[in-house]
Parts: sequence; structure tokens; C-alpha cells
Amino acid sequence: MTSMDQERWTRVKGRLRAELGEDVYTSWFARVDLEGLDEETVRMSVPTRFLKSWIQSHYAERVLACWQSEQTTIGRIELTVRSGILRPLPPKAKPPEAHEPLRNGYDGKVDGFGLRFGATPISTAHESLGGSPLDARLTFETFVVGRSNTLAHAAAKQVAATRRTDSVMFNPLYIHAGVGLGKTHLLQSLAWAGNAAGERKVLYLTAEKFMYGFATAIKLQTALAFKDSLRGIDVLVIDDLQFLQGKSTQAEFCHTLNALIDAGRQVVIAADRPPLDLESLDDRVRSRLAGGLVVEMGSLGEELRLEILKSRVVAARQHHAGFDVPAPVLAYIAKTVTHNGRDLEGAVNRLLAHNKLTGYPVTLEMAEREVRDLIRPQEPKRVKIEDIQRVVARQYSVSRSDLLSSRRTANVVRPRQVAMYLAKTLTLRSLPEIGRRFGGRDHTTVLHAVRKIEGLVGSDTSLAQEIEGLKRQLQD
Ligand code: ADP
Ligand code: MG
Repeated sequence: MTSMDQERWTRVKGRLRAELGEDVYTSWFARVDLEGLDEETVRMSVPTRFLKSWIQSHYAERVLACWQSEQTTIGRIELTVRSGILRPLPPKAKPPEAHEPLRNGYDGKVDGFGLRFGATPISTAHESLGGSPLDARLTFETFVVGRSNTLAHAAAKQVAATRRTDSVMFNPLYIHAGVGLGKTHLLQSLAWAGNAAGERKVLYLTAEKFMYGFATAIKLQTALAFKDSLRGIDVLVIDDLQFLQGKSTQAEFCHTLNALIDAGRQVVIAADRPPLDLESLDDRVRSRLAGGLVVEMGSLGEELRLEILKSRVVAARQHHAGFDVPAPVLAYIAKTVTHNGRDLEGAVNRLLAHNKLTGYPVTLEMAEREVRDLIRPQEPKRVKIEDIQRVVARQYSVSRSDLLSSRRTANVVRPRQVAMYLAKTLTLRSLPEIGRRFGGRDHTTVLHAVRKIEGLVGSDTSLAQEIEGLKRQLQD
């Protein structure tokens, strides 16, 4: 490929960006590479089959038109799949948190808030299959799409719309994000929509429900029936996979996963971390999970927060006609309550409760008072071992595979030790886990590296500064 071709490609990208807008462009085209180009044909590649089919079905003509305005002879676009895991979109997800957000007595429980339907035929049928309850408010209609969740949303919609006769495009679909960023909302939307289409059986289960179902089946000696019932499902959706515990349940989960995927059934998973960080699962399951489409949902941007708030207020108004939240109050909450969707929901519920109980209209002052404790300082970013390896490798001009290799030359030993030290100090990973992520090393090797660097930092100021710089890069 010539540098002229690259320049053309840059201009085509610029055109696409201008025509489609930044968000759409980033979601679908940021990972497209130009592979080559001749008189008639442009060859481009994407990292997943999903992106390929999406671009083909939604943007083929536009891409072709953009190329034709560069070079009129072009008549064909060829898209191929590069293989590998999809990288997450910026911005990154916030750190997961172990505790539930603070709630007051109003949260989610204000009488008649939002849309509470009685059991629908769909949810009744779903529960009779052993599924976890579906919340009638968590549907695609109420899910607000923004920069951080475009791809996850599109993938979930695609799964919900797939028919039995269609081939499965990506399996499993694995969505990860921090607490309150919409995983459950998205998965339940998928379950509602998939079941409403009536063609396929979609079963939504929390990991806890899966464990419970399996444990009960063992106790009642109906484990086989339980397995069969799961294997009769067309789409198995498992939420909060990080909570799956216990050797035998995990082995069972692994069998179920393999059996479903091999039978061409769809599996959808959500968790608070990427597959490779699910420490309690064994390697085979982890890599099977990482082998499908892995999508991260980032933190909610201010615009998205504002849209979510608006839709919450609209929902609340269906039951409380007099309830109104002035635009400046919405803007204030969207700006200050940054943490996650649960806090946004809590904020609207408090305004509603206050308004109902006192009869006072919602004002900025009232909002400031009511949501004060939902305004939290920015939490430090969730640092991933992968990122540490990438940043350290770049800093010392070695490759990431050098860091993971068994090479012992000085130019890789020191960077490797620094990276292990950072992994220990910036993440909650255990020494054995870190060892595993550094090419399967023993935990004593990691401990040695951590002590070594700790010792050096005290006396070697330039190393200390280097490490400070690396930490800063990783944390903001
Ligand atoms: P998670 O399962 O990731 O912890 P949830 O799906 O429970 O998060 O979302 C927390 C709250 O935020 C819910 O009330 C949910 O409806 C809301 N929420 C999160 N993301 C969105 C979104 N994109 N659109 C509308 N509501 C959202
Ligand atoms: Mg959830």
C-alpha cells in the first residue's frame, strides 16, 4: 500500500466522521483498517464478525460512496475479519465497588414510581422456566443510548432480533462494566424483547440463581433434569457472573456453556470485569468467554446522564401528573451526580418523594439539599494489569510479550519487576494471580520483584520519579 492510499483512507475516514457524527463514527469505524486497494476494490478489515455484518448491512453504500469520491473507479468494498478480542471503547468504566450505593427509604420504592405492571404473560412464562424475575421497567424502550454503550446496546438488540434459523454471529456475547452502568438493564431488555418476539426461549438468570438452581437440583437428585432444561434454552443470559462460586457449580457452568455454544445456541454474559480477570474461573472457561464478542460499557457521560434523568422524570410523570423537574435542576444533577445510574434513579426518586410529601415544587435549592450525599468524589480509575503491561512496555521500549517471556536480560528484567510492582500496588490482585498474568510465574517471583522495587525506590530517585510518572499515566 502506498502512502497515497493511506492519505486517501484518512480523507475517507474524515468524510465518514463528518457525515455520521463522532459517536456513530467511533462506534463502528474506529477499528476499521485499510488492508489494500486497487483500481476497483478496496479491502478493509475489522476485528469481529459482528462489526463486519453491521457495517455491511448499515453502512455499505455510504462507505462505497466515500471511496468513490476519492477514486471514481472503485466499485467494490471487501470487508474481512482480523480476529482477536474487541478492545473496549473509551471512556473507561469506573472501578467496581463491593458495597451497594447508599440508599434512603425512598429509593425505588416510592409508591407507583415509574411503570409497574402486573405479571405479564412473558414474565410468567419466563419465571416458570426457572428464570430470575424480569423488571417491567428495564426494556430497550427505556434504555438510553450514548457514547459509552452504543456497541453493547447494538449487540444486545441484534441478539434479541436473531431468529432460530439465523446463524449465531458472536458467541458468547460478554458485556462488562462497573456497578450501576446498565448491565442488568440491557440484559433484561434483551430477555423481554427476545421472548416477546416469541420465536426463541430466552432465559435470564443471575449467577446466584444459577448456583441455587444447580444446588437444589443436586439435593433433589434432579441435576440431570436441570441440565436438560438449560440445554433446551435458545438464549441463556447470565447476569453478574463474577458471583459464580464453588468448584462444582463452575464445572457445571462450564459444561452448560460449552454444550450451548456447540449446539449453536446463544449465550450472553454480564460481569463487572473482563473475562480474563474472573479469577475464580478456570483458564478454559475464561478463554472460552474471551473468545466471543467482549464489550465494555464505559462510565455514563454527562449527556447520557441528562437523558437518563429526563426519561426517568417522564416515567414518573405517568403516575404523578403534577411532578415537574425544571431544566436547570436536571442539568445540576447530571453534572454533579456522576457515579452511576442507580444514583440518578435515587436522585429522581428523592425529588419525587419530597415533592409528594411536602407539596413544594422542585427547585434548585431543594435538589442541592436532597442529593447532597449522592455527590461523591471521583473514585480512582480501575487499573487493569493489561494496561500496566502496555504502559510499562512503552516506557521502556520493550514489547508486552517480552514482559511475559522468560527472558532474563537486564533490559527486560527491570521493566518486568516494575510492572509487577505496579500490579501489586495499583490493583487488588493477589500475588499468585499477578504471577499467572505475567506468563505463569510463581507468586514468590512476584513477591521478590515487589520487594526489589520497594527497596530501590527509597534510594534511586530517578526510578522513583519514573514510577510516579507511570502511576499518573495509569490513574488519570
Ligand atoms: P448494573 O447492572 O450495571 O449494575 P443497572 O442495569 O442495574 O446497572 O443500572 C442501574 C440503574 O441505572 C438502573 O435504574 C438503570 O435503569 C439505570 N441505567 C443505567 N444505564 C442506563 C441507560 N443507558 N439508560 C437508562 N437507564 C440506565
Ligand atoms: Mg446488575
